[in-house]
Amino acid sequence: MTAVSTLTGTIDSSALGRVLVHEHLFVLNEEYRYNYRPDFVEEDMIETAVEQLAELKAAGIDTIMDPTVLGLGRFIHRMKAVADRVELNIIPATGIYTYRDVPFPFTYVGPGLGYDVDRAPGQPADFMVDHFVNDLTVGIAGTDIRASFLKCAIDTHGLTPDIERILRAVAQAHLATGAPVTVHTDSHSRSGLLAQDVLEAEGVDLPRVIIGHSGDTKDVDYLRAVADRGSILGMDRFGHGGEEFGGFTFGDRINTIVALVEEGYSDRITLSHDNFVFADFYPPGEPRNRLEKDLTFLVVSQQAVPALLDRGVTQAQVDEMLIHNPRRYFER
Ligand SMILES: [Zn+2]
Repeated sequence: MTAVSTLTGTIDSSALGRVLVHEHLFVLNEEYRYNYRPDFVEEDMIETAVEQLAELKAAGIDTIMDPTVLGLGRFIHRMKAVADRVELNIIPATGIYTYRDVPFPFTYVGPGLGYDVDRAPGQPADFMVDHFVNDLTVGIAGTDIRASFLKCAIDTHGLTPDIERILRAVAQAHLATGAPVTVHTDSHSRSGLLAQDVLEAEGVDLPRVIIGHSGDTKDVDYLRAVADRGSILGMDRFGHGGEEFGGFTFGDRINTIVALVEEGYSDRITLSHDNFVFADFYPPGEPRNRLEKDLTFLVVSQQAVPALLDRGVTQAQVDEMLIHNPRRYFER
């Protein structure tokens, strides 16, 4: 029993229902959008999100975790406008998303970086931690909407000094608040293990960590190594595939999960799409500005779950992935 803050209020962890652990409403560089993307119309974005999330709720999903943080364009007022009109719970996050460098507001401010901020004894050395803790305990952007989990990233560039700084700040905010952690990782360079090393060295309890994008590989040895340290595997990109993913298919994603379940790992698997309603990662006119044809919020409920059941995964094991594992992730 742990209180979980959503965009529309606080609910108990036991009331989360079926959870998709990694979905975005909007992934936008707000500065870029404002200057160069008049095609992203505010009302249109909100309306489209409301429609898609209503469909998702009707498909049996009760809660999504939205790991959109600094670097991905988290804009809490637009997210709230959507949440107010859907029945689905949306859980916001705090943290920093980057593959190499911290955003400029952090580049020159911090321990040994030129502008050090006065720190009282007992406070964490890096003021970055304050940002995260404030979002988790007071509210985001002057609202009373609190984030409920922490997000950071480590991709193919590995553990750059700035990535290490963010991981350590995330760990310290976790220790201060008890909020769990989600890490964007690159499974091909096995960066989940590196993330675990840094977080563990800072004292993070690894079962409170989702190693995101673990479902992008068939390397079961790597996934076993991550899961054996207690972390939860984010099998969270259902609907993504094709050339961009080295020819990786829906079937590959299912096969990997079935193999892990057969070895007893169903208590460390979560499901999701890493989908978004609008993103500016693609050029104007590209259909993925809106939705890839075969990437919707419904692949998990309408295709993945039936495929898993077909392959001998039990309903109880599916419930672990969708209900019990996300719930336990939030519980201290
Ligand atoms: Zn994502």
